[in-house]
Amino acid sequence: MPRDTNQKYWDPQLETQSRAEWDALKLGLLKDHLKHAYDNSPYYRSSFDAAGVKPEDLKTLADLQRFPTIDKKILRERQEAKPLLGDLAAVPERDVVYVSASSGSTGVPTVSPFTQQDFDDWIDYEARQFWSSGLRPEDRYAHSLNFSLFIGGPCVLGAQKLGALSIHAGTVPSERLLAILRQFQATAIWTTPSYAWYLGETAQKEGIDPKKDLAVKRIFVAGEPGGSIPETRARIEALWGAEVYDYYGLSDIFGSCAGMCEEKDGLHWAEDHILVEVLDPETGEAVAPGERGEMVLTTLKKRARPLIRFRTGDIVSFTDEPCACGRTSQRLLGVHGRRDDMLIVRGVNIFPSDVEAIVRKDHDFSGEYRLVIERIDHLDRLTIEVERAAGFQGTADALADRLAHRVKAITGVGAHIAVLDPDTLPRATHKAKRVEDRRSQVWTA
Ligand SMILES: [Zn+2]
Repeated sequence: MPRDTNQKYWDPQLETQSRAEWDALKLGLLKDHLKHAYDNSPYYRSSFDAAGVKPEDLKTLADLQRFPTIDKKILRERQEAKPLLGDLAAVPERDVVYVSASSGSTGVPTVSPFTQQDFDDWIDYEARQFWSSGLRPEDRYAHSLNFSLFIGGPCVLGAQKLGALSIHAGTVPSERLLAILRQFQATAIWTTPSYAWYLGETAQKEGIDPKKDLAVKRIFVAGEPGGSIPETRARIEALWGAEVYDYYGLSDIFGSCAGMCEEKDGLHWAEDHILVEVLDPETGEAVAPGERGEMVLTTLKKRARPLIRFRTGDIVSFTDEPCACGRTSQRLLGVHGRRDDMLIVRGVNIFPSDVEAIVRKDHDFSGEYRLVIERIDHLDRLTIEVERAAGFQGTADALADRLAHRVKAITGVGAHIAVLDPDTLPRATHKAKRVEDRRSQVWTA
């Protein structure tokens, strides 16, 4: 530090190393991390003992499959049993300098603790990730995520570490945020995809052209699948005249665990910090590279509270092919939905993101949508509510037929289409509620 602005990589040796070097690095870190968890966390000691495994049983990365998994429910239960940090924690509280808490919609938020080293590792990773997305010390970066206990808040320090002028905007009303973007002529922001869209539309309604009156050239998004749906990204990019980069974060690990480089071909994973398994959610077996499965994560360095085989509930796909940018880390190709967001309509799996991609490709629709599922005469009925675009002149029936045909062709699900007038669906300002399941009893996969 400071790095040369023309330097392509934040950490050239690490980011371009061979697949064998990545695996060797991860194996070494994992051996140490399992031992740290077993020696210092009462929970891991008892769960490893109960499963009949010891840290030294791990000789290869594949041996991790012998260790037990954990999930959000276990985090919550162990936290309630041993407040504040729970007995997955592997350091005394005096070594903890920062906590975030998840915004979980059910029950008490779970607390994620960091030592100073954990925190510094995270921020260094954020800086590396921002660098890969083209952020440079010359940029003015407006961070418009929540700071209140939210794991996304401190990511702004990654931009600051990189050397960008960092504006701690937070979540403020849209008019205020637009005023900040205008006054500071911010060149980059971070928000959710639905909010990026809403903010751009709000600007236009107030007579501000985001492309001319504002200076935003890079928009980082996270929190919803939209940033990895090319059609959604393209429409936000057109609205702002900016590049959109999708990021993926997890409240229990880092504010971002992966992000898009300038190639925007999947999200580079923080592979030196977090080991990924992609498993069939039913059998627990690893799926083939590129196939969809549940993402299961193991921290490799985070000492305050190691996560060993944490089932995220996110249905994802990954590749370990090198990227055109020259970086060799694994890439997250998409978060296709939540295991518990996956809808089963007459026995067919469908994710809201599948519908989103179809709706947003067709510019006779506004792009807003909602899925309503009911059970009528013992049969599931999916209705997709969409809005016609403001300038659309044709008939609603023709639009509905076209969309129903495409949804059937791509997802295999027959859907009723309700074409509504522009601006009738509720606009989401943060995480969009896209699904209304009115069935009294929902089949589970
Ligand atoms: Zn890349």
